[in-house]
Amino acid sequence: MDAAAFDYPALLERVARDVAPLTGSGTPAEYIPALASVDPRQFGMAVADLDGNVFGVGDWQVPFSTQSITKVFTLALALAQGGDSLWERVGREPSGNPFNSLVQLEYENGVPRNPFINAGALVVTDRLQTLTGDASSELLDFLRQESGNPDLGFDAEVAASEQENGHRNAAVAHFMASYGNIDNPVPALLEHYFWQCSIEMSCADLARAGRFLARHGLRADGSRLLTRSEAKQINAVMLTCGTYDAAGEFAYRVGLPGKSGVGGGIVAVVPGQCTLAVWSPGLDAQGNSVAGVAALDRFTTLTGLSVF
Ligand code: GLU
Repeated sequence: MDAAAFDYPALLERVARDVAPLTGSGTPAEYIPALASVDPRQFGMAVADLDGNVFGVGDWQVPFSTQSITKVFTLALALAQGGDSLWERVGREPSGNPFNSLVQLEYENGVPRNPFINAGALVVTDRLQTLTGDASSELLDFLRQESGNPDLGFDAEVAASEQENGHRNAAVAHFMASYGNIDNPVPALLEHYFWQCSIEMSCADLARAGRFLARHGLRADGSRLLTRSEAKQINAVMLTCGTYDAAGEFAYRVGLPGKSGVGGGIVAVVPGQCTLAVWSPGLDAQGNSVAGVAALDRFTTLTGLSVF
């Protein structure tokens, strides 16, 4: 269907009305104290089309903690700069386990199932650190450029809060290091990982920043970040592994590649058409935004936009 066929502002208003009864349900992430205090009744959604337009509704310009959504962008940067050898160190299969699980890692010899569980993201950040010498700054620069928002930054309070409560991530990183799957010193790697998770962005920023995935690998300035094939691969891993232990349910309801974070945000991609970002802090038991998933479900149902 032609992009011009959609009246995005009207669609977003309709979606926001339809999911209004759900905003405020679910629970904000509690294991990171700095996130637990966010008002769960907030809801925002944005669409960025490939002509450079961005449309939004509700709290679409309010910055929030992107958390695991950043895993998509570090994966893209590590693949762009280091190529396919990354896949020798991390798999591409759904884990069927919680995002911070240690169990699987032991019987799979320290090679994480996919880049979107914490273990996999730590491997990807380690790789980007080796390639660039400063993984978190590399990521922030990239997000500033792609979103067109030079004011994006780390949230020092969230990063410190994660550091203080990061025993499990530290355990996972040390465990993988014992198998030789981490190259950098673990404390430095964890610092970059926590800074990465703390980046604050709005739905508008995220929808803009994710457009290279809808543009088959082309960046905002027209240069190529990823080959068409690499962009397809990242979208595929998002579809199968991007929404924690509920990727099957997300694919069933939304029908798009998506990546969620425990801050309540989700980015979803309609290849060749647009990028969507939605945010509402109340999470379901798997860690996905209740109103966010419902909004994407509504959006793809109303428009028929889906990869299927
Ligand atoms: N910073 C979080 C952690 O590693 C990321 C959680 C998430 O959004 O999945 O625990």
